[in-house]
Amino acid sequence: MKKGKVFVVSGPSGVGKGTICAELMARYPSLAATTVSVTTRAPRPGERDGVHYYFRTEEEFDRLLKEGMFLETVDKFTHRYGTLFSEVEKVLDSGKNVILEIEMLGGANVKKRIPEAVLVFILPPSLETLTARIKGRGSETAEEIAFRQAQVEKEFDQAAPYEYFVVNDDLADAVEHLKAIIVAEGLKDTLQDVKQNYFGRD
Ligand code: ADP
Ligand code: 5GP
Repeated sequence: MKKGKVFVVSGPSGVGKGTICAELMARYPSLAATTVSVTTRAPRPGERDGVHYYFRTEEEFDRLLKEGMFLETVDKFTHRYGTLFSEVEKVLDSGKNVILEIEMLGGANVKKRIPEAVLVFILPPSLETLTARIKGRGSETAEEIAFRQAQVEKEFDQAAPYEYFVVNDDLADAVEHLKAIIVAEGLKDTLQDVKQNYFGRD
């Protein structure tokens, strides 16, 4: 069986990354799965440990870091976030592609460690739509919203290693576009590997 690939999905807070990935997995359950990250931030209402994040203390985060458990980590919004190797391996072992729903510094670090990882940036149809979606979600304070808005322009400046750009206007279209990227990337191969599979030699 051909092994799945690592896909990074990034984009401004509130652009719809979570919504798109959840819908993709609901529609195409065997195609890809997301991982659960570790964070030191407090759970928002409705968020559950082990489902949305592994909510850990600073000390526990440090211990995992020291033990070399993280593929990447980032300090963001005064909190820390990290992707565990074990989470990535769990999904790859199940024969699916992995989607890391992480911010862009993390994306760039993943690309450095796994050069064949594919980086996808989700764009809002406009900045006004983005603000409306964050407010509509209702999970951040006005101060947090203002801070995250100020981050948006900076995030665009960091988008250089990203190869695919998906506009989340109509949700169903965005899901299909992400699916198309994953399927097309899965068809990429080297002639050497193809020959090896067919003839057992180079
Ligand atoms: P992110 O994971 O990027 O922070 P979310 O997935 O939480 O963003 O989406 C932010 C808000 O925008 C949610 O309330 C979600 O329902 C809404 N949303 C996401 N995609 C769309 C879309 N295509 N059209 C309208 N609203 C959307
Ligand atoms: P939130 O606090 O809104 O859940 O997430 C804040 C930001 O951190 C989002 O952009 C989210 O994608 C990102 N994030 C979540 N988990 C990780 C992770 O493990 N690594 C990195 N680099 N970013 C993450």
